[in-house]
Amino acid sequence: MTARATTVVGAGVIGLTCAVELQRAGHDVTVIAEQPGDATVSSVAGAIWFPYRAGPVDRVAAWARRTRDRLEALAQTTPDAGVDVLTCWEITDEPAPWWLPAAPDAARAAAPVPGAPPAWRFRAPRVEPAAHLPWLEAQLDRPVVRARLDALADAPGDLVVHCAGLGARRLAGDRALGGLLGQVLVTAPGRADLRTSITDDRDPDALFYVIPRRDSLVLGGCAITHAGDDAPAADAALTARILADAARLGVDVGPVRAVRTGLRPYRPEVRLERDGRVIHCYGHGGAGYTLALGCAEDVVALATG
Ligand SMILES: Cc1cc2nc3c(=O)[nH]c(=O)nc-3n(C[C@H](O)[C@H](O)[C@H](O)COP(=O)(O)OP(=O)(O)OC[C@H]3O[C@@H](n4cnc5c(N)ncnc54)[C@H](O)[C@@H]3O)c2cc1C
Repeated sequence: MTARATTVVGAGVIGLTCAVELQRAGHDVTVIAEQPGDATVSSVAGAIWFPYRAGPVDRVAAWARRTRDRLEALAQTTPDAGVDVLTCWEITDEPAPWWLPAAPDAARAAAPVPGAPPAWRFRAPRVEPAAHLPWLEAQLDRPVVRARLDALADAPGDLVVHCAGLGARRLAGDRALGGLLGQVLVTAPGRADLRTSITDDRDPDALFYVIPRRDSLVLGGCAITHAGDDAPAADAALTARILADAARLGVDVGPVRAVRTGLRPYRPEVRLERDGRVIHCYGHGGAGYTLALGCAEDVVALATG
């Protein structure tokens, strides 16, 4: 049987993950993207497994759980994929967070910070975008085509898998999709424990997290509705607040190496559905890495049906 010619639009974590899974399932895949690699929102992320700002609850929990299993397996077998399994502490006032079904090992314990507030502790794979995105790209049979599409109808192929992130606002005319601004600091590791990630979301207006990478720390953050297509420049006051929060929680960070901003492609519900020859897969909010593999499995199922 001839392989189906399938075009994937977008080379962030969602597009590349879908492309690799479709290729494994026998599709003849071409990825088209206006901007790959370091220019994508995906390159800004921490990127730890946690279902943050994505819906709907039931589908997200199922995608997150499947993705966690697959990322954990990848961490065991394929160091080049840039995935490591950390211990995550989530400090929250919520007595029964909705995401618990996605992390069955989660248990209450005192967080490893001064004052030791109660927190949820669970295993969480962390992905290094600078390793993971090129690793995904390297598995493709042909390089990503650099081009901007003005309409999905212009995409060639029997099937089109639409993973344009925030670009779907234009490509699909989707008004339910919007940008949620995030700002992160990348610092030298200092004396922080590189196996432990901590999030403090007790104050929704002053979200704080530290996500260790292999040789750096990512500190955040914020989630602010932003109307434009491009993320604004970093806010110096927010940088100062994040560093003060790190000190308050006893996280001993090294010098700041970079400050980056990005717009999470937020939609009240991730759009994953087929419409004729187009399969839409976008709107993963603050959880693209957390949901990518589970969503890609569903995309493959829709592409096969
Ligand atoms: C500060 C910050 C921290 C985050 N932390 C985490 C985290 O810890 N864990 C986690 O799971 N998630 C995290 N996220 C969320 C995650 O980064 C996103 O959910 C994810 O990157 C979305 O991926 P995507 O592939 O849909 O979009 P993108 O990465 O934006 O990729 C979209 C692609 O589509 C292309 N495109 C768009 N329009 C067109 C067009 N017209 N023609 C051709 N190509 C087009 C773009 O060029 C790009 O290649 C974070 C996000 C931010 C901003």
